[in-house]
Amino acid sequence: MIHPWQQQLWTKLINQHHYGHAYLFYGVKGLGKRHLVAHFAARLLCSEAGEYACGTCKNCKLLAANNHPDIFYLDSLDDKEISIDKVREMVTFLSQTANYDGYKLVICNQLNLLNRSSANALLKSLEEPAGKSILLLVSDEISNLLPTIISRCQKISCPRASYQQAADYLYMRFPNLSATEIKQLLELSHNSPLLATELLQQNILEQRQIWTDGIKRLLKRQINIVDLAGKLQKSSAIMLFNWAIELVSNIIRYKLSADDKSSGAEDLSVVTRYLATKNNVDELFSIYQKLLMLRAKIVHRANLNPQLLLESMLLRVQSLG
Ligand SMILES: [Zn+2]
Repeated sequence: MIHPWQQQLWTKLINQHHYGHAYLFYGVKGLGKRHLVAHFAARLLCSEAGEYACGTCKNCKLLAANNHPDIFYLDSLDDKEISIDKVREMVTFLSQTANYDGYKLVICNQLNLLNRSSANALLKSLEEPAGKSILLLVSDEISNLLPTIISRCQKISCPRASYQQAADYLYMRFPNLSATEIKQLLELSHNSPLLATELLQQNILEQRQIWTDGIKRLLKRQINIVDLAGKLQKSSAIMLFNWAIELVSNIIRYKLSADDKSSGAEDLSVVTRYLATKNNVDELFSIYQKLLMLRAKIVHRANLNPQLLLESMLLRVQSLG
């Protein structure tokens, strides 16, 4: 089944008079783009399709067994780069006639993994479409793609879930969650129900609790930096930096607007408002910049002692209080 927030797009997709030669599905991570593409591909191959693929015809069975000869996955095994050899394999695949008289499909779930030369090789196939073939391409960062690739595809912007759709999705899958927990999960995942699910499986609520309690105690000087850094060890350093940066940016936003709605995540909104009264904008911007610089070191692994970076981050946060 298609996610509820994709229903409108789905109806449009399957009711086209003519299918395009290449589609580019784009949008930020966590919208369910690959899920949508998998359903679309199944429906294109199915010989008895209604709104969805039937699931029982020969084509559907071959696809479910990962054995359909008319579909090609342009992906890399190690999530690093899609090699030019892989694109050449795809070109050969497209040059052969379909085995089952239907479409020949190519799915590329991570278009951003193409390097310069493999992207150029793909471009050729987009310029000279082969027979009854359709390319289904997916990108989380359309801005990093070659403009010539983008311009040769039909662009499909994948919609976000509304708050209610996202909350319903989580309620259905995790009936034991409380309304507060769902709200918090959606805040932490910027309203993406799929990302929220992933985060939940990583015990994010527990980690967030340690973070918010820790920050409050740190500001009251009830815990020292080294002890708190130790307690936070199980959490991803990048995530903690994102939380710290978000806290400071919320303080700035609240200070500039004095609007309660802009005081950010509910679990730290009192802290946010309090810290806004204690700091001036210049100080806040300077701390914000320093946190960004520290985070860059983690992202680029420039400093191999994340514990030390975490402690410097906590020191900046403490200096706000
Ligand atoms: Zn079928």
